[in-house]
Amino acid sequence: MAITVSIPTALRPYAGNQGDVELEGATVGELLTKLTDQYGELKRHLYKENGALRSFVNVYVNDDDMRYLDKEDTPVKEGDVVSIVPSVAGGAPAVIDEVQANGLTNDEVQRYSRHLILPEVGVVGQQRLKAAKVLLIGAGGLGSPLGLYLAAAGVGKLGVVDFDLVDFTNLHRQILHSTSDVGRSKLDSARETIAGINPGVEFEGYESMLTSDNALDIIRDYDIVVDGTDNFPTRYLVNDACVLLDKPNVYGSIFRFEGQASVFHAKQGPCYRCLYPEPPPPGLVPSCAEGGVLGVLPGIIGTIQAMETIKLIIGRGDSLVGRLVLFDAMKMKFREMKLRKDPECPLCGENPTITGLIDYEQFCGIGGPAEEEANPDMKEITPTDLKQKLDRGEPFVLVDVRNPEEYEICNLGGTLIPLSELPERLGELNKDDEIVVHCKLGGRSANAVAYMSDQGFTNVTNLEGGISAWADEVDPSMPQY
Ligand SMILES: [Zn+2]
Repeated sequence: MAITVSIPTALRPYAGNQGDVELEGATVGELLTKLTDQYGELKRHLYKENGALRSFVNVYVNDDDMRYLDKEDTPVKEGDVVSIVPSVAGGAPAVIDEVQANGLTNDEVQRYSRHLILPEVGVVGQQRLKAAKVLLIGAGGLGSPLGLYLAAAGVGKLGVVDFDLVDFTNLHRQILHSTSDVGRSKLDSARETIAGINPGVEFEGYESMLTSDNALDIIRDYDIVVDGTDNFPTRYLVNDACVLLDKPNVYGSIFRFEGQASVFHAKQGPCYRCLYPEPPPPGLVPSCAEGGVLGVLPGIIGTIQAMETIKLIIGRGDSLVGRLVLFDAMKMKFREMKLRKDPECPLCGENPTITGLIDYEQFCGIGGPAEEEANPDMKEITPTDLKQKLDRGEPFVLVDVRNPEEYEICNLGGTLIPLSELPERLGELNKDDEIVVHCKLGGRSANAVAYMSDQGFTNVTNLEGGISAWADEVDPSMPQY
């Protein structure tokens, strides 16, 4: 009896690039054992060294979280779908209870007429929108459709937190910004675009990173927070600040062709920590820069977030509180998982142990002293020194651990062994050769150097700053991506 195990995009490289694997077994545990026996590399992604499932990996049987069934002993039968859902990166009362007596002007009546004639919105709903204050974290891929639609819908005040500049690589998906905005601050560009769509919206920009020091002060003034971030420290920070301040947190995340959306509001349902108590270790889940993203995808997920935000404001419909929507663009399929509040949640559970904001970089294992000290002996070479080494004709092996798609854009002629294939293909390299490893920016290659040194390679060096630094320092004619 075959059971389908659905593998998320982020983990497919470790499962023969398959989306669905058909396996036989009587329990979830049996299926996972067979899966990891078949695909050895998947094991270290799914399990800790002590054999327990990693806590950023959730497993669902059909639409139920196995933690609330019989965990690994949960029985499965023919036709069931077991889904692995890693973190990627009910009906609700209106959050705007009191509408001030600020009616609508004639211009507003005209502008919002197609809202006003909907019984579910009407004048009261539109007044609620006008009174609403929504904070967008990020003016990027998700923030773009959010900013556009929420402004167009007449949300009274939009706050936006972002400190980035518009980059050429943003334009294929971040539709708040135009080609002529490249190099400008995203906030300035967003302010202008939003004013063009609806000059009645009050725009407040926060040109800084959201941090544990400023998050509570910024979020306090808003009714709803919409999370459009692409990194785990900010995601946990937004979640924790929203729970502490009792604000709904409209969540979305995207990766390649897949997206997730939900609404976390601890008063009524689970928070992000109920779903994923801990972040994945750094480097295990690739970012959009590394993994790529189809330009339309943030449009779809961001628009779902905008719809949920408007429903919360007008107090209509069934919100995504307690539900996680999964979208697969390649299959054009939406699926839905039930989310439950974890009574043991350290933040919103019965006996919370987190009562203030923490150091999220450290919590996510990023940038702290631990990471820097992880490999103090790693040898590095600058692009200029590497160029001289090549010019001198020194014998060494250059290994490129990026993906084939990246290699096709530009390369240094090195041997292509993607990081995910390195363990199986290590035999192609000689342990005593001098080897220089590179990737795009130097992060993946540092992991490769550490791994190879562990495996007994004696002379492995990392190219500092990767092929991007090479393009900057040595060959400005090389295309950058
Ligand atoms: Zn919680």
